[in-house]
Amino acid sequence: MKAISSIEDFNSRIKKIIITKEEIDEAIKKAGKEIDKLYDGRPILLVSILKGAFVFMADICRAVSVPCEIGFMCAKSYYEGTQSSGVVQITMDLDRDISGYHVVIIEDIVDTGRTLNDIVQLLKGRNPISLHVITLLDKPSRRLVDFTPDMSLFTIPDLFVIGYGLDCGEYYRSLPYIAEYSEE
Ligand code: 5GP
Repeated sequence: MKAISSIEDFNSRIKKIIITKEEIDEAIKKAGKEIDKLYDGRPILLVSILKGAFVFMADICRAVSVPCEIGFMCAKSYYEGTQSSGVVQITMDLDRDISGYHVVIIEDIVDTGRTLNDIVQLLKGRNPISLHVITLLDKPSRRLVDFTPDMSLFTIPDLFVIGYGLDCGEYYRSLPYIAEYSEE
């Protein structure tokens, strides 16, 4: 990624909005109702994968009515650009024992599937009562490992996207929509 030189340069890289704020809001309301139905009053632990899923987590935890706790893990797979390094690093782990919890992983995007595949294996080994994965975005055409989320709010083509928590070089996380990123 080329360094951003000005506000004009920053704005010019937001190529095209592909999912509007309104579409995201609508999908989150629906997802909240589905989570409520699935857990039927049972308490859950929402686990957000930082940093990309922090905005999605903030919205999804307010869209559910079942009692919920929240937890955070930090995983890194993209370094300063648009290409995956293929290495998934857990840089911050959960602060509690998850046995005894219905765990719901809240992720921003599933791309090659490596990050979630690793995290799911790790958390399953800690014996939660149940484990579900909810992702805002899914890019199934990019999958390199056999992984399917339990719920996906939007399926998108093979584009590098930014906004609503997703970054490029740590910028753009605060955009309220999902857009395609381009340096041209
Ligand atoms: P995976 O392990 O599935 O290849 O990648 C998952 C992680 O890669 C996501 O949590 C996200 O941080 C990053 N990632 C994958 N695709 C995109 C994308 O289109 N835009 C951004 N900003 N990050 C992405």
